[in-house]
Amino acid sequence: MRTSRWAVSKFSPISSTVTSQSVKRTSAITRPRSRKAWRWSLATSSAAFSHWPQRTRRLKRRCASSKARPLESGSNWPYENSVQPGRAATPAASAIAATRTRIGTPPARLSGPSCTEAARPRDVSTVWWGRLERVILPAVDAPPRAPVLLGVDLGGTKLQLALGDAEGRPLRARRRPTEPSGDPAADVARIAEDARALLAEAGVAACDVSAIGVSVPGPFDPDTGMVLRPPNLPGWDAVPLRAWLEDRFGCPVHLENDANAAALAEWRFGAGRGAQHFVYLTMSTGVGGGLVLGGRLYRGVRAGAGELGHVPIEWQGDVCSCGLRGCAEAYLGGASLARRLREVTPPESRVARLAGGREAATAVHLVEAAKQGDPFALAEMARYAHYLARLLSVTVFALAPEVIALGTIPTAAGEALVFEPVRRQLGAHLWPRVASGLRIVPAELGDALASHAALAAAREAFRARDERHAS
Ligand SMILES: [Zn+2]
Repeated sequence: MRTSRWAVSKFSPISSTVTSQSVKRTSAITRPRSRKAWRWSLATSSAAFSHWPQRTRRLKRRCASSKARPLESGSNWPYENSVQPGRAATPAASAIAATRTRIGTPPARLSGPSCTEAARPRDVSTVWWGRLERVILPAVDAPPRAPVLLGVDLGGTKLQLALGDAEGRPLRARRRPTEPSGDPAADVARIAEDARALLAEAGVAACDVSAIGVSVPGPFDPDTGMVLRPPNLPGWDAVPLRAWLEDRFGCPVHLENDANAAALAEWRFGAGRGAQHFVYLTMSTGVGGGLVLGGRLYRGVRAGAGELGHVPIEWQGDVCSCGLRGCAEAYLGGASLARRLREVTPPESRVARLAGGREAATAVHLVEAAKQGDPFALAEMARYAHYLARLLSVTVFALAPEVIALGTIPTAAGEALVFEPVRRQLGAHLWPRVASGLRIVPAELGDALASHAALAAAREAFRARDERHAS
């Protein structure tokens, strides 16, 4: 019995699914011994060849350029045996079937075969002898693997990494302080290192990541993928973050404004579920907005839409962090609130007592004191609700959303301190037909928002890449 370096696999229904790698690893197989078997194999092979003379010449060249390799026993093919009863009769089929049966069902993990194990089969694979020597049949796609998404939330103080499924549901996450070093290349290398560690924990190879999303707080150029001087990352100036991550991971990378990413996350998994027109307001240190209109994120020119924190709600009012006067953020942002509390909080108020002195007072102390019934804190929260209603009236008249979800401070303050007074004031300043059906609700994702938001950005990667290529 003569053995060959070529594995034969056209004698069974499973042959067309054999990859070049599994062929290499399958035990050596004999050629068919009888002329009858040869004729049968020719008939079954020809059915798959509609243009075989031309294809044969091309494939023979490919075949001739291949180098012989010693065959090994075993295979890493991880899928179930697909042999039909009574059809796999040859030694080749039996060997492959035995290998597959031994491997069994794919493991329940984030992806299919690791790229280091079964290497994304693209090539062929059936070889067969006779008058046509060493013909390799065309490739058949490998069974699809579940996409794995990687999300990076580049927060002001925390860096969050998350692995998720194709829908953007977080499966595993890790968080650390952002800790910028002043050297963006070193910072990005560290982020990539953390990402690889997270992938290793989940048993996923880096090349199995389908797309990466980065939720970015500061200014960036959506066309070039450059991060432009974010205030929380000193030393970052025109950093080509998208290109650097694409080089490292070899998959599409998408940068998204953090408020937009949060809006997508709340829309898909939180307070905006089911809405076609949804507005999300981040209301922590600063105030930002994300707009989902007509079931799709709306970015506007140069991704500038949704900057609701800088809508003027008081002409010639307080100075905002952006340099303008009277912006909503100057009245509703946590940083602005803290500045105000340090100036106007009475020393005897509960706010000052909770903070250990008004110099340390923040929005957290204000909300807590208001819940405890402190008169000064209640008055400050009424002022807060008033300015929030001003901002939302502009938002509703401009966009007529179905749902407006409010983030951190209003959510912490709750119904009595914020939501009820805001709805009441809006009711007096909106047309009924505009206000009808409008829901103003707390955000729902809480601590899970960072992971969801970064993965929501990853889901945008393919669409963004296609749009770049189309333009
Ligand atoms: Zn502003």
